[in-house]
Amino acid sequence: MRAQPFIIIPWENDFLAGLARLVLSETDGNPAHACIIVPHSRPRRYFADTLYAMPELPKPFALPQMITVSELFATLRSEIENNPPEQIEMLDRVGLLLRCLENQAQEQREALPLPTGDTNRFFPWGVRLANLLEDFYNQNIEPEDVTYMEGQVVDFAAGLLGSLGRIHREYTEKLDNRSWTTPGYDAFRVLRHIKEQRGTYTADSFACLRGKRIFIAGFYGLTGVEEAIFRHLAEEYEAQVVLHSDARLAESPSRVHWACREHTRWLSRWSVQATCAEEPEARKRETVFHEGFDLHSQLDVLERTLGASDGQPRITDADSLPATIGSAVVLPDTGLLMPVLHHLPRKDVNISMGYPLGRSTLFRLLETVMRLQETASGKGHGASLYHWKEVIGLLRHPYLKMLALGEERPLGVPLHHMEASVRTGRRFTDPRTLHPELDEQSKLPEQDVRALLATVFDLAVTRWEHLHTPQDMADTLADLCTLLLTHGGDLWDRFPIDAESIFRLMHRVIPMLRECSLATQIFPKDVLFTILRETIRQERVPFEADPLTGVQVMGMLETRLLRFDNVHIVDATEDKLPGAPANDPLLPDSLRGMLGLPDSRHRELVSAYNFHRLLQGAEQITIYYQAGVERSGLFEEKRARSRFVEELLWQEEKKRGKLITPGTPPLHAISYPMPAITRLDKPVERTPEIAARLSEYLRRPLSPSALDTYLTCPVRFFHERLCGVGAIDEVNEGDDHAGIGELLHSVLEDFYTPYLKRTVHFDEDDAKRLQDLFSLRLNQSELKDSLPFDSFLMLEAAGRKRLASFIDNQPETHIAALEQRFQAEIAVDGRTRLIAGRMDRVDEREGQTVILDYKTGKVSRPNPGIWEDDTLWSRLRCWQGEDDDTLALLAQKLPSVQLPAYLYIYPRGVRQGAPLPVGDAGWVELRSNGKEVLLLGTSTEDDMRETVINEQIPLLMEFLFRHMETVPSYRPNRGRHCDWCPCANCCSV
Ligand code: SF4
Repeated sequence: MRAQPFIIIPWENDFLAGLARLVLSETDGNPAHACIIVPHSRPRRYFADTLYAMPELPKPFALPQMITVSELFATLRSEIENNPPEQIEMLDRVGLLLRCLENQAQEQREALPLPTGDTNRFFPWGVRLANLLEDFYNQNIEPEDVTYMEGQVVDFAAGLLGSLGRIHREYTEKLDNRSWTTPGYDAFRVLRHIKEQRGTYTADSFACLRGKRIFIAGFYGLTGVEEAIFRHLAEEYEAQVVLHSDARLAESPSRVHWACREHTRWLSRWSVQATCAEEPEARKRETVFHEGFDLHSQLDVLERTLGASDGQPRITDADSLPATIGSAVVLPDTGLLMPVLHHLPRKDVNISMGYPLGRSTLFRLLETVMRLQETASGKGHGASLYHWKEVIGLLRHPYLKMLALGEERPLGVPLHHMEASVRTGRRFTDPRTLHPELDEQSKLPEQDVRALLATVFDLAVTRWEHLHTPQDMADTLADLCTLLLTHGGDLWDRFPIDAESIFRLMHRVIPMLRECSLATQIFPKDVLFTILRETIRQERVPFEADPLTGVQVMGMLETRLLRFDNVHIVDATEDKLPGAPANDPLLPDSLRGMLGLPDSRHRELVSAYNFHRLLQGAEQITIYYQAGVERSGLFEEKRARSRFVEELLWQEEKKRGKLITPGTPPLHAISYPMPAITRLDKPVERTPEIAARLSEYLRRPLSPSALDTYLTCPVRFFHERLCGVGAIDEVNEGDDHAGIGELLHSVLEDFYTPYLKRTVHFDEDDAKRLQDLFSLRLNQSELKDSLPFDSFLMLEAAGRKRLASFIDNQPETHIAALEQRFQAEIAVDGRTRLIAGRMDRVDEREGQTVILDYKTGKVSRPNPGIWEDDTLWSRLRCWQGEDDDTLALLAQKLPSVQLPAYLYIYPRGVRQGAPLPVGDAGWVELRSNGKEVLLLGTSTEDDMRETVINEQIPLLMEFLFRHMETVPSYRPNRGRHCDWCPCANCCSV
């Protein structure tokens, strides 16, 4: 029997309403006599509501049977075979393929480059191979070996393709022998059975279809099996094919919209005609485009647009069935779900889409736990040590902080303390060895809180150290889920998406791992993690819209067969609509067509049909997309609007006869007013409280570095020294400048100690001794563990070179003191203040004392003419507490007062009195050639030297103390130093 002409419901019309009218007319008003085969399950509920809203259908009524195509295949197979086979999951499929390949490798004389013995390498290939075989089943193709693929794909893939036919046959045989099946194999078996029994089946052979009027409704790009079975149903069961397509398909197929091309081909392959069930509804369609610069800008406009229209369903004049009419926010990428939900103005939102489990917060926890193990290093006391950043990732996970004991959530405080301790610790650490302080406010017994903390680390760290099999992993995951559920409190009621994710993990992933054929096989840990990631990657957390009110949020595929008045398509960019071809190293897209499999061109056609079909039925279309450059790691990726959007714009331009530029309706460019950011200085008024705090602070001796801080910026001095604001302590992952400085100081102290109170002049042997001492101390230091290996090697080489150059530049000298602290008093306006500093080395040379400071950082040289700058010195002398720029002027000319301070302290601080007068002070530049940079130098006349040391430097010290204790307010002093300031956010508004 020939198939009947296809019925077309014009794609401007509501498909489900048209189908409902058709079903009623073909079943004499009793829809229960119909069996409707649809591509997916979402329209079921919409169709029931559509029937209910039909006035001509008497109530109550029985619903028709509406089944998806995959349900149909499974049902038919269970009818055909007495013992329906068990459907297996991906892990079993990969396990089965591994067996097949092991047999193949044994049988073949020439060994294939198959890593069957290396499960780590095989698993990802196994997943791809299982999916490829599934494609062949769905297309009703029994593949042959594909030879000579070397050079087109990698060697292993060429090996697999070279045995493809044999693998397929053996895999199929093994499925049959074990009474196992897959969704694709179900379809394949049903078709094979029907073909074998052709002629013996009658219209009543399948109980599920018996006595029913069959409708094959809303399909577009068919798989090979679907087409063959639908044809059988059309020819033997008089099944009626109903398309939602361009109405011109009935009269002039050559003029149909290009996106309906698959329908034209279908008609031609079956040699049937099409008739239109109803006239296309005339719609006034308005399309608006919003070009944003990122996702946030798109969502902002979406929120405002939905807020303005309120997202209320409207009833059109042309159609009195409201069931599928309303507003839909369509997301081409499921990852957009969370940000979109945060921007919807109304709370009565219905989500119809599968959210990837791999994007859930739960998976983030599992990923952190796996990353901990993958980046673990070294062995400490029999247990692994973990990288500090991964440990912090675990400590900060919201699920752990929210674990409850009774009414309390007691882990927040201890986890916070642990984080602080990890941040200031070493690169690799063990969180289980920390003993954090607990929350003092907590009323819970300490042992209960510590027991909960221990359980958390047992399930998130210890148990993952000892995984061997998928079953071990399933047990650990199950216990972790139990902990989260038992101690989650009301967490799961408040966050339903998280609750769905945990449900999915417990009811799909864990049983899969525990019951698969590889469950007890021992794998290395990284293979187990690959298995878990791959299994989770395939899982979707399903959301069904129920009840069907409010704004519908759905994926592009979920919109099939449905119609909405208002359609909002978010992030309609080329990489999502139609999307880039999947990169499959086993069978690249270019080779798929050669083997009879659908390729990216087919996928693009399907995507185009879904897009245009949705738009044809809508009245108000708003399309949001991102245009511009997005930085993504190493590469810069250009985001371009989808070619489908481009087509719509082109149509609009043709209509207007001119190009549409962004900013011209209907193409809106999203922009925001960008006022210049004005930052006003925020001085700190020296209130009585602050003055009191300063007095207290000045009871202790002030160091030259504190004086430097004040000179550089009084506001920083206030925040850093008086209030204790500082940089966040963190594990140093790069070059540890402070650690290197400390090491060099201690090496030089040790080197010079034998020469204390002696006159020395060093030679090459001394340089070698100093270098060896440095290498020895460096290798014994913590820097060896904390620095990256390459930095460590560089440091050793550079340090040795600079120390040799340092020795080379040292004059003959007498060592008077090493690393000694001196303290002096200073009288300021009737008050006595203290100033103290630790001097790295004090030498005696040519009848004078020279104070030296080792500098591994930058040296701040004073302005050359500062000592002769009479204006400056007279301003310092006359300053009486004015709020002027004297301090800033001084800072400009003398960026550091460290050496002047040493010259002030030393002669006043030596207990027995300085044996020789101080003549100079200088820095030893260890970061370059180790030369001495003296404050005054040999060019300064003796008179001048005396004036500087005995008059100007005491004046300078007095001025600084007077300034900090007298000035009415501390003003920020901006400069390059702000780049390293830990209080950068405290000095402006
Ligand atoms: S950022 Fe600059 S101006 Fe602000 S407190 Fe720090 S050093 Fe002072």
